[in-house]
Amino acid sequence: VREHLRRIETHAGLGAFLHVAADEALRQARAADAARAAGDARPLLGLPVAHKDVFVTRGMPSTAGSKMLAGYMSPFDATVVERLGAAGAGMVALGKTNMDEFAMGSSNENSAFGPVRNPWDAQAVPGGSSGGSAAAVAARLVPAATGTDTGGSIRQPAAMCGVTGIKPTYGLCSRYGMIAFASSLDQAGPLAQTAWDCALLLEAMAGFDTHDSTSVQHAVPRYTESLDAPRSGASTDKPLAGLRIGLPREYFAEGLSHEVALAVRAALDVYASLGATLVDISLPRTELSIPAYYLVAPAEASSNLSRFDGVRYGHRAANYRDLAEMYAQSRAEGFGPEVKRRILIGTYVLSHGYYDAYYLQAQKIRRLIAEDFLQAFRECDIVAGPVSPTVAWNLGEKADPLANYLADIYTLSASLAGLPGMSIPAGFGQGAHAKRPVGLQLIGPHFAEDRLLHAGHQFQ
Ligand code: GLN
Repeated sequence: VREHLRRIETHAGLGAFLHVAADEALRQARAADAARAAGDARPLLGLPVAHKDVFVTRGMPSTAGSKMLAGYMSPFDATVVERLGAAGAGMVALGKTNMDEFAMGSSNENSAFGPVRNPWDAQAVPGGSSGGSAAAVAARLVPAATGTDTGGSIRQPAAMCGVTGIKPTYGLCSRYGMIAFASSLDQAGPLAQTAWDCALLLEAMAGFDTHDSTSVQHAVPRYTESLDAPRSGASTDKPLAGLRIGLPREYFAEGLSHEVALAVRAALDVYASLGATLVDISLPRTELSIPAYYLVAPAEASSNLSRFDGVRYGHRAANYRDLAEMYAQSRAEGFGPEVKRRILIGTYVLSHGYYDAYYLQAQKIRRLIAEDFLQAFRECDIVAGPVSPTVAWNLGEKADPLANYLADIYTLSASLAGLPGMSIPAGFGQGAHAKRPVGLQLIGPHFAEDRLLHAGHQFQ
């Protein structure tokens, strides 16, 4: 813990952390030492972890990357935080990581508290919205961190920072205490160096929670117990024999950069050498995931963010004449431009007269996208492809919000379908991008986290 706190300090320029709880972490580390000496054998006991600042934490501020919640102290811990903490797995929380405001973004540049730099290349963004968590793990500031993924926010920063991250099936991890962005899509998950580490963390994070009505009653497997063994019926030299990996032709089409395609193809060759069979499949509605997601997510966000009214939480304007002006002024001052844009879009598509034309259509497309996957999983066991069409771009390079939205093309579908998705490091870009990591995405059927983690571990 002391060494990691030191690294956090020397790498403060990355902007990965919004809050560091040094004294409390050292106190917890000593308590963990004492527990270990007394025979406590929990595998994660005393190991440092950092939490994306979208999880509320007792004793540390929780801002969701927004000025609206600057300095906000929660009276309770999110379920995921509690399960990883002293009363659960025994991990020591070092602090809170930077993120796009209310998890809206793909480059971490939408944080009200400044951007995060990619530890591989300081000119590059770390991805987002869990950019602080991904950068912190990549720079070895912490061995593992929590993140959330609504449309790619664990997988895409993991890919751009060269770490491993898994977004579980919707409902596997409790959303209680996660500051809501789009509730039907938001899902928590771990980021760490390896699939093994992610498996260990997920075992501790996942599971039913009475505090979250969408959390699922599903027994959490001991993922780590099966990671080393070959697939049933396979031999140790071809441990993935019998595994059918589907390559959606829409994920390898126009728009995918050459350097990412090269790295992803090379990773797939490794899978073939491990015994997996590569099969061509189609996810025909892939392109529609962008308009569908960018209507559904803002619609839910506009509703979720109505609680920030200057009365119950966070920022309140100093000067106002009446209640309506107090609401308006507090929100005008507290929210950043991307959050306002989404509230406007969301309010519009939910409004009378436009609901049928936009929101309802988007929901129908969402269902069709889920059906595409059901069809695909008749032909394969796992879907594989790129996480992002490009390696990390330069800070300030993508000012146009639409350009940011389009870069989410390969991650949105799994979110809309509620499927688990994982990103594992697959290599690097080319030339000037030789230090910018590329991620390989693996998507599985609902609750097939074990299959993804196994495939990830066998590759690593
Ligand atoms: N980039 C997507 C967005 O801006 C996804 C973000 C996320 O998964 N939280 O909404």
